[in-house]
Amino acid sequence: MTEAPEAPEAPEAPEAPEAPEAPDALAVSRRIGPELVELRRRLHRIPELGLHLPDTQAVVLEAMTGLDLEVTTGQELSSVVAVLRGRAPVSGERPVVLLRGDMDALPVTEEVDADYASQRPGLMHACGHDLHVAGLVGAARILHELRDWLVGDVVLMFQPAEEGPGGAEPMIREGLLEAAGRRVDAAYAVHVYSADHPFGTWFGRPGTLMAAADEVSVVVHGLGGHGSAPDRTRDPVPVACEIVLAFQTAVTRQFSIWDPVVLTVGKVAAGTKDNIIPDDAHIEASLRTFSPEHRGKAHEVFTRVAQGVASAHGLTAEVTIGNGYPVTVNDAEEQAFAQGVVADLFGADRWADMVDPEAGSEDMSFVLEQVPGAYLNVSACAHADHHDAEDNHSPRAAFDDAIVPDVAAALAELALRRSRELASS
Ligand SMILES: [Zn+2]
Repeated sequence: MTEAPEAPEAPEAPEAPEAPEAPDALAVSRRIGPELVELRRRLHRIPELGLHLPDTQAVVLEAMTGLDLEVTTGQELSSVVAVLRGRAPVSGERPVVLLRGDMDALPVTEEVDADYASQRPGLMHACGHDLHVAGLVGAARILHELRDWLVGDVVLMFQPAEEGPGGAEPMIREGLLEAAGRRVDAAYAVHVYSADHPFGTWFGRPGTLMAAADEVSVVVHGLGGHGSAPDRTRDPVPVACEIVLAFQTAVTRQFSIWDPVVLTVGKVAAGTKDNIIPDDAHIEASLRTFSPEHRGKAHEVFTRVAQGVASAHGLTAEVTIGNGYPVTVNDAEEQAFAQGVVADLFGADRWADMVDPEAGSEDMSFVLEQVPGAYLNVSACAHADHHDAEDNHSPRAAFDDAIVPDVAAALAELALRRSRELASS
């Protein structure tokens, strides 16, 4: 091997004018990744339920200390809304992009064996919302670092109570969509899954992504009496049974088979003893619909069927349909855009089209009813074979938080690119 002659010292290059490098959200996310994973584990140890998550809120606020953000916290709930202002010049109106992460856990006793397992008996981040929070904090940090390239503003939505009773609606009431001083133009959210796909696969679909879920409650009012003399009563029990069956007939006879309606009667209750006819009978059902049209029609049809059957027998039925979360709809253009961003960042082979919507529901739907946007899913499956993995909400649902930096990068990149497009449109 011959010794190469020593290269002559290169003359000092003249200072090049500062050319801004293209922002690389992924590089930043990989650099801060270990801190985001640590944040996720910290949150995983302290799950909280519902609208009031003081410990989670405190961790979020602490994790974003030092970032130049306009932060407001919720009145009715422990939400956090942070506005991050881009510093890239904008000629027209400043675009506003919303990124959402839900924060709440579930009443589940964790059976995953990890040193960061829940320290609160009976509570667990079994739906992976701890990863969403860490991902959104990561997006805030990335966007803050790249804010010289950010055209317009980003609203970061840290939302309690996705698992009920719903945090998106009160946040909207408290001014979420106007938080940046202008109405939000586009909105995105990511959800992690512990099963379904191999780790790292992103999946979604345009149009209906998730169902609307409503609770149907029926009280059949009759007149009780002695079981030996039903003619002197108005027995609500057989009438309630007829209503349950008539509901299923209505499902198959009154709705298009191409736009499904699912009605499950999960509870029927009446009476105390074999020889006493009760005054009332109660029915509780879960109603899932996949379009606003069928949702509205279903409310009407099931009310009419219950009242009609009761009335045919000389009784009355009181029907209450609680307004749950609406249908979650991905705007077709936004979905295509978001899918493109994910494919650019991680490769097209990490995308899978969802053939069908899911029958679960999600209160990001309230945001997507008002603002075009996209809701993406990604597998954080911790098992080598995703077929063996347990689904979200299981006490054994295991999420691999190696996905958190990717979630952060995807959210940040969605905001960077969409606001650029909005500014130039
Ligand atoms: Zn969830």
